[in-house]
Amino acid sequence: MTATTEVTRYKLLIGGQHVEAASGDTFPVINPATNQVIGMVAKAGPEDVERAVAAARAEFDSGAWPRTSATDRGKVVRRIADLIRERADELAQLESINTGKPITNAKNEVLSATGVFDYYAGAADKYFGETIPVADNILDFTLREPAGVCGQIVPWNFPFSMASWKVAPGLAAGCTLILKPASNTPLTALALGEICLEAGVPEGAISVLPGPGAVIGEHLATHPLVDKIAFTGETATGIQILRAAAGTVKKVSLELGGKSPNIVFADADLEKAAAFAVPAGFNNTGQTCTARTRIFVTDSSYDRFLNHLVDQTEQWTVGDPADTATRMGPLISSAQHERVANYIDIGRDEGAALIYGGVRPTAFDAGNFLQPTIFADVSNDMRIAREEIFGPVVSVIRFEDEAEVVAAANANEYGLAASVWTRDLGRAMRVAKGLRSGMVSVNSNGGPGVLGPFGGYKKSGLGRELSMHGLDLYTQVKNVYVDLGA
Ligand code: NDP
Repeated sequence: MTATTEVTRYKLLIGGQHVEAASGDTFPVINPATNQVIGMVAKAGPEDVERAVAAARAEFDSGAWPRTSATDRGKVVRRIADLIRERADELAQLESINTGKPITNAKNEVLSATGVFDYYAGAADKYFGETIPVADNILDFTLREPAGVCGQIVPWNFPFSMASWKVAPGLAAGCTLILKPASNTPLTALALGEICLEAGVPEGAISVLPGPGAVIGEHLATHPLVDKIAFTGETATGIQILRAAAGTVKKVSLELGGKSPNIVFADADLEKAAAFAVPAGFNNTGQTCTARTRIFVTDSSYDRFLNHLVDQTEQWTVGDPADTATRMGPLISSAQHERVANYIDIGRDEGAALIYGGVRPTAFDAGNFLQPTIFADVSNDMRIAREEIFGPVVSVIRFEDEAEVVAAANANEYGLAASVWTRDLGRAMRVAKGLRSGMVSVNSNGGPGVLGPFGGYKKSGLGRELSMHGLDLYTQVKNVYVDLGA
């Protein structure tokens, strides 16, 4: 296991300066594969939020960034992509050691973030208003204006990706940003802040504030000088943010939890569906909001599918995140390990059949490792099938017919993603239309990446990130009505 005893110190990034927290406080950052401290990070508090908001407000109200042409903003955003590419190996190492994710995944995520910056670099000057044909003597048009000062609160499961999904459209739209990384994983967000400055983003347009969400996040959400909050994380936290933001009627976008169904009909390519169900459930150690954790399988093919699923899961190597052969690293923290292990106990107590995993792999006694875990004979109303576990645990559920499975898939408070596997095109389309989910894949568990909208129905969120829809979140629409005279 790769271990490090080197403890690096990190400061906050406020208004272009690396600074200690006003309180002088710091907090430790842990490598989840070893549970060793790898960094001490300045811990922002309310005074630091005030400094960051003042810098962002000043830049938005009278600085250059919102007034820079969209084309020139796009050029700066493109430079961010280029600088990330140059530092991709270093960023991937930092992400892997801070999250426990396999180095190969970390590298892919960093490279995919460059695609997000590239996309919004190109989109910056291709997103504009419209003219409305009111009458011959009236000119009516809309302006797309930057939303203002934005607080962006990101989680620990995909720290660099989630920061890029927010920072790239925010900057392209001309907003000024305060990025609040998760306390578990602040390191690559701080690096991203530096990269933005190096690329030419003005000092007041990006600050990075590691520190406790309940303090920093809450302060940003209630702050009268913050115009917008973007958040990714747990639904309960999203609801708190929505409440906190209500007092100032902020623009809010939320990307929250999921319990996504993966529906496999008997006529599907069962081997392929099983092979794809493994990464769909266990990628990122199951700490993925779109994880397909409820696998519905037609009764007549249930046993065959389950055999394929177990065979494929055996290939899903748990191991050292630094090893390029590793498919699955540890959970983010010992608290998350405990939470997931507790759900495994709940599943057993509810009467589900634990047919694979469920325990710590024998070779790993330090770190937060857990085997990929499969429960069979699960019913859709068990807690393990209803609640977001956020660990490598999938539930396999039987069904008989199409109407029943659509109803069961929808009988959940979340509605983020879904998959349907069948060779019958009509059925695939009926099910895709019937599912109350923001994203549906047919004969796949994938999605279009930055090119398509990302977000959910019901308690899975508000708004759509990525694609041109992502720019809606960072702009206001202004209507201008001009009487041209007689
Ligand atoms: P949170 O949703 O609490 O954390 C996500 C981000 O929100 C972090 O930056 C966190 O900061 C911040 N935050 C926490 N409380 C507040 C608040 N009151 N106001 C504003 N921001 C806040 O998730 P946790 O890290 O606590 O994980 C708990 C569970 O949430 C996990 O077990 C998992 O089930 C789920 N989760 C779901 C995610 C998803 O994408 N669906 C992503 C992450 C977690 P800080 O880290 O400092 O607390």
